[in-house]
Amino acid sequence: MPELARRGALAAHEALREAVAKPLAGDDLTRDEAIALLSDPDLSEHLLVAAATLRDRAWGRTVTFSPKIFLPITNLCRDRCTYCTFRADPDDPHAWTMTPDEIAEWSARGRTLGCKEALLCLGDKPEVAFPVYRTTLERLGHRTTAEYVERACAIALDAGLLPHTNAGILTREEMARLKDVNVSLGLMLETVSTRLRGRGEVHQWAPDKEPAARLRMLREAGELAIPFTTGLLLGIGETLAERVDTLLAIRDLHRAHGHVQEVIVQPFRAKPTIRRSDAAEPATDDVVRTVAVARLLLDREVSVQAPPNLSPGDHALLLGAGLNDWGGISPLTPDYVNPEAPWPHVAALAAECRAAGYALQERLAIYPAYVDRPGFLSPVLRPRVAALAAEIDGHAVGAEVPA
Ligand code: SF4
Repeated sequence: MPELARRGALAAHEALREAVAKPLAGDDLTRDEAIALLSDPDLSEHLLVAAATLRDRAWGRTVTFSPKIFLPITNLCRDRCTYCTFRADPDDPHAWTMTPDEIAEWSARGRTLGCKEALLCLGDKPEVAFPVYRTTLERLGHRTTAEYVERACAIALDAGLLPHTNAGILTREEMARLKDVNVSLGLMLETVSTRLRGRGEVHQWAPDKEPAARLRMLREAGELAIPFTTGLLLGIGETLAERVDTLLAIRDLHRAHGHVQEVIVQPFRAKPTIRRSDAAEPATDDVVRTVAVARLLLDREVSVQAPPNLSPGDHALLLGAGLNDWGGISPLTPDYVNPEAPWPHVAALAAECRAAGYALQERLAIYPAYVDRPGFLSPVLRPRVAALAAEIDGHAVGAEVPA
């Protein structure tokens, strides 16, 4: 490298080392700085230290998870994302729509096992694509999936669980109704890249993955004061700049409405049954750097989460990158979206956290900050939240809480 270019590279490197400390002083990283930090492995050490320091300041030495059951109300979906193993067509042998009795039975079993959250996760608008599913809904007494989900949430509530629904794209009216039977709602933004809707890309056949539609729903959830979970999907063909743009879009929506309680950094995992079966998975250091950049870009009160079952050997690295939450973990139901990836045992995860200097603690599907924030929790749900919060109340998993 010519001397002038070498000096320029060194100066840029030095500038980024300084930039990484900006969020610790309450300043924002620029888009270019965030992209450069994601791209440059040589800066990893500084990046991780800054992100972990920020996490410790904002969230202390406690890392959380939500004991949950996963209720896959229907796996029928009108979209066809090429990385998805969950969706089915009605004539597929593994197609299902849960009955009200099944929802009640699974909810009761989950509650018996100590679960507090019912995650309702399902395909997007199957009634638009499949007449036979419309007949199923009619037999159940409903016109739309959102209506049936509302009933399913009521069943889960009756069993003593707090519902959190991710039903794909919902209208403002549907979200307003679901707010009375959900403590929070979710929709992975995944990416703001419209390029990935193009020919041959992962979202070509997924109209509900149009970024504008997802951003609209996130905005309307904010206007409705609904505590919200969102996140980004890594390794679906996005560029590092598009990753940063996705995080910035989430940050801006949260700054406008104050409703994003957590952001999931979820790596793509290949499976033999999907069209992208031979696509490369994001490498560990890529996932870890993205967690750290998410921590530095997002406002400090926003929880940063990575699913522990998708990175089973990397828990300590993720803790070192500023993660403060592991998301939902179930003693009963598999991760239907990644069925090949078993949940960790909570006691083993607690031991890993302890070894890294952190206590593992349960949380509810609504974060504490949103329970008392005016307008965010439906009054009809408040007594149920209070009762389950009292069950947790500072109780760490395992005996030792690090100093
Ligand atoms: S990822 Fe979601 S929207 Fe895409 S095909 Fe699967 S269930 Fe449908």
